[in-house]
Amino acid sequence: MPKAKETVLEINLNALEHNYRYITSRINNSTNVLGVVKAFGYGSDAVSVANSLAQLGVAYFGVAYTSEGEELRNGGIQTPILVLHPQSINFNKIVNRCLEPSIYSFNMLTKFIEFAESKNQKSYPIHLKFNTGLNRLGFTEFDIDEIIKKLAKTESVKVKSVFSHLAASEDLNEKVFTEKQLQRFNRIALELEESLQYSFTRHTLNTSGVLNYPNSQYEMVRTGIGLYGFGNNAKENKNLQPVATLKTIISQIHILNEGDTIGYNRAMTATQNMKTATLPIGHTDGINRAYGNTIGWVTINGKKAPIVGNVCMDMIMVDVSKIDCNEGDEVIIFGDKGSTAEELSAAINSIPYELLTAISQRVKRVICRK
Ligand SMILES: *Cc1c(COP(=O)(O)O)cnc(C)c1O
Repeated sequence: MPKAKETVLEINLNALEHNYRYITSRINNSTNVLGVVKAFGYGSDAVSVANSLAQLGVAYFGVAYTSEGEELRNGGIQTPILVLHPQSINFNKIVNRCLEPSIYSFNMLTKFIEFAESKNQKSYPIHLKFNTGLNRLGFTEFDIDEIIKKLAKTESVKVKSVFSHLAASEDLNEKVFTEKQLQRFNRIALELEESLQYSFTRHTLNTSGVLNYPNSQYEMVRTGIGLYGFGNNAKENKNLQPVATLKTIISQIHILNEGDTIGYNRAMTATQNMKTATLPIGHTDGINRAYGNTIGWVTINGKKAPIVGNVCMDMIMVDVSKIDCNEGDEVIIFGDKGSTAEELSAAINSIPYELLTAISQRVKRVICRK
């Protein structure tokens, strides 16, 4: 890659492919992969990522909202797309763009059947979501009889899959709870199989589920964060490669005297003469204000430069007193080796999911292979 000349988020498709191959090496050959590309592909570029994954053989894509599914269709993606959290106001778009809704409540089931009937749909694919312990979205196991009754009365929809979501698949201290969730899911799937009398896909593992509970992979797994290079533990992170690298440049260098203050509200005072660099990236771009005042850092010419003063809307200042650097030099905010999104997010008690998806659409995405 040429050196950055402005703030960019580089998306390395070779790393994505490596991660896909690693994850599929951890599941059976016959298990399908649903690639989760919600939230702009975890902050990267959903269409580029989906195109890459489709070529590698991903069977399904998952998005949170209908608009994200539309974006994939607009980008030419033809793979089936599961919309995890649709709203009934978007049912028209769902059907027009061949998106497949997760149906998680009687309210949604009734409304979607009504809609599908009004559009003369036959066997429109739906995905039944069950709550097995996360207590976020989903039917309970006690809803099955009522679901079956409603489905028996219509030919407009057909259950394509049954799924659930684990509450703590990354936390091995919660193994007992997770096993209970998995058993509950198994009971639900068996009961539905008996009542529906046709086969459907079952899926309940996210990335950490794949890595920690491979016996419950069923016919499909849903992987998000692993594709982007993070495995929710240090050991797995070593097997994966971060896809996104956030870079910027030095706009200006300042020489400060002892007693000078830095930035808004004079949040920091130079305790000795120092050199600072001002960078064209701020909280608008996804650099949380919590990183201000030496909590966060960037890397310049291989050396760590702490963020000094408050994070501004469009800029940060960093301490480069001990770094040989010039205006125009490239700056790494996060990437791989020594300054990952994992490490930087941990500094403010956050997680890579939040840091990656916080990088705002103002930051230019650059697709590359390296
Ligand atoms: C976001 C999401 C996933 C992906 O989880 P990762 O931990 O990123 O692999 C899977 N399933 C559901 C229901 C989700 O909302």
